[in-house]
Amino acid sequence: MCGIVGYTGSKDAYPILIKGLQRLEYRGYDSAGVALMNDKTTLHKCKGKVVDLQNHIGSGLTTGTAGIGHTRWATHGEPNDVNAHPHTSMSGDIVLIHNGIIENYDSVRKELIHRGYTFHSETDTEVLVNLIEEIKKSEACSLSEAIRKALNEVIGAYAIVVMSNSEPGTLVAAKKSSPLVIGIGPDKDYYLASDATPIVEYTKNVVYLEDGEIAEIIPGKDLKLFTIQKQNVTPYIQELELQLEQLEKSGYDHFMLKEIYEQPRSVRDSLRGRLNLAAGLVHLGGMADYEQKLLNANRITIVACGTSWHAGLVGEYLIEDLARIPVEVEYASEFRYRNPIITEKDVVIAISQSGETADTLAALELAKSKGATILGICNVVGSTISRTTHGGSYTHAGPEIGVASTKAFTSQVTVLSLLALMLGNKKGSIERSKFLRLLYGLNEIPEKIERALQTNDLVELISAKFKDASNFLYLGRGYCFPVALEGALKLKEISYIHAEGYPAAEMKHGPIALIDEEMPVVVIATKGPSYEKVVSNIQEVKARKGVLIAIVTEGDTQVKEMADYTIEIPETDEIFSPLVASVPLQLLSYHIAVMRECNVDQPRNLAKSVTVE
Ligand code: GLU
Repeated sequence: MCGIVGYTGSKDAYPILIKGLQRLEYRGYDSAGVALMNDKTTLHKCKGKVVDLQNHIGSGLTTGTAGIGHTRWATHGEPNDVNAHPHTSMSGDIVLIHNGIIENYDSVRKELIHRGYTFHSETDTEVLVNLIEEIKKSEACSLSEAIRKALNEVIGAYAIVVMSNSEPGTLVAAKKSSPLVIGIGPDKDYYLASDATPIVEYTKNVVYLEDGEIAEIIPGKDLKLFTIQKQNVTPYIQELELQLEQLEKSGYDHFMLKEIYEQPRSVRDSLRGRLNLAAGLVHLGGMADYEQKLLNANRITIVACGTSWHAGLVGEYLIEDLARIPVEVEYASEFRYRNPIITEKDVVIAISQSGETADTLAALELAKSKGATILGICNVVGSTISRTTHGGSYTHAGPEIGVASTKAFTSQVTVLSLLALMLGNKKGSIERSKFLRLLYGLNEIPEKIERALQTNDLVELISAKFKDASNFLYLGRGYCFPVALEGALKLKEISYIHAEGYPAAEMKHGPIALIDEEMPVVVIATKGPSYEKVVSNIQEVKARKGVLIAIVTEGDTQVKEMADYTIEIPETDEIFSPLVASVPLQLLSYHIAVMRECNVDQPRNLAKSVTVE
């Protein structure tokens, strides 16, 4: 994944790079480095986080008005000082940062070794920087031309920024399948980053580099873009809508907690302008043009990964239930490699917070090549998936920085709820009175999430009791089965406790064997058609001495008598229960992780935006 930054202009580059890397640390944090251009390059890099890099540099040389920086999520070679980026070519002339994977690195490496190159790191990246050097030397061409030629020889994914001692002040950037944004400052100074968050405080004018494009960036001059086939491209300058305040913790201890508490607002923002109570309709702008395609589709396939996949499962229940259109939910990483049956009568919807998830993007491209209509549900405006799809809807959750997704999930489910209602209403598969009742119900969700957040103190007390558990089981049925999966994933991700989510009735086909007095079992037992069935499943757990934590509807008495701990949440229509029931589970994982002294916002081995497959 990795975060990459660059700056060239008249300011001191180092503080801009460090601040940018801190903003991008959610993308990877196993090592970090910067290279600064004076007359020649100064390089600093080390294992660890950006703060470790700052300590490592201490009072070392950090001057220079051009530079590049990197925070790594290792794919090739363990996280250590040598494998950290930037990587330097053998002669020391060229430095490069890279996000992605060079798939044919091994054959290129062997060829370069044959030509006398030596390598210090185990990375695929060092191969690319030496390939550029070899071409630049042997063909006596400019840096940008050498990069263009080198990129024609590599297979894989990359966003790169490169500097050379022979062209001080110039940055050359290129991208394929990994994101890269270029900010244009008022004095034609340039800011580069994997996303817009490091750029927004300096300029709102940005260019999103497209796949196969190369940018030659010289301060004081216009941005020059061309393709790897050498075609000139006119830069399309867009204005950022992002606000700087959205990127700060606003007094919360962690981004994750801030984002959990933002949900009443983020869900309201997902609904804004789309749910019209007065007119009794739902209008999802970016989807509306594809309404007939969706209604007539053979099948809707949702492709996603991780938390977004869980939101997709809720989407399947919603769309089949309300609109009676067949839906399948696929892990994007499986879908893309399993020769799926997709025709032009299919609609494929990708769900991705970042809009950059590599597997989801590849799954979409596969579906597109088979003629399907492809739609996206993304959070990050201008992201690759949102630009690749025919249409789609933004979730409008605002920047999500905590690696464990929270508000992105509820916003995705909100958009899927709107979509299912829109389709159900159009098709007439739900009665008008039910449709209107559900519209009112959905409109009340932000306020119900607010009430669910009031369980925080109770959840914190419960967390203290279970913080040392080694395993957790999460159970739910119907719409709350995906909530169980998502609750278990949150706990695994940030507290490193093993947890499994299961459909409550499936428990007796295996996991029930795990239950004893040491096993906390979280059951989502809110009011709904399967309530009585869940009560029976709770009895089964109790009979085996499992310790029960139940999420119940306010006023519940039956489960309360059986469970060891109950957390009450406001009543909703069953179909919206994931939006409210997931909130105490987010808080549970958060408090347990804090009590275990885990790094909540940057859990080990993870990164937020998975831009490698
Ligand atoms: N493949 C490069 C490395 O391992 C970059 C990794 C990435 O972007 O995730 O260093």
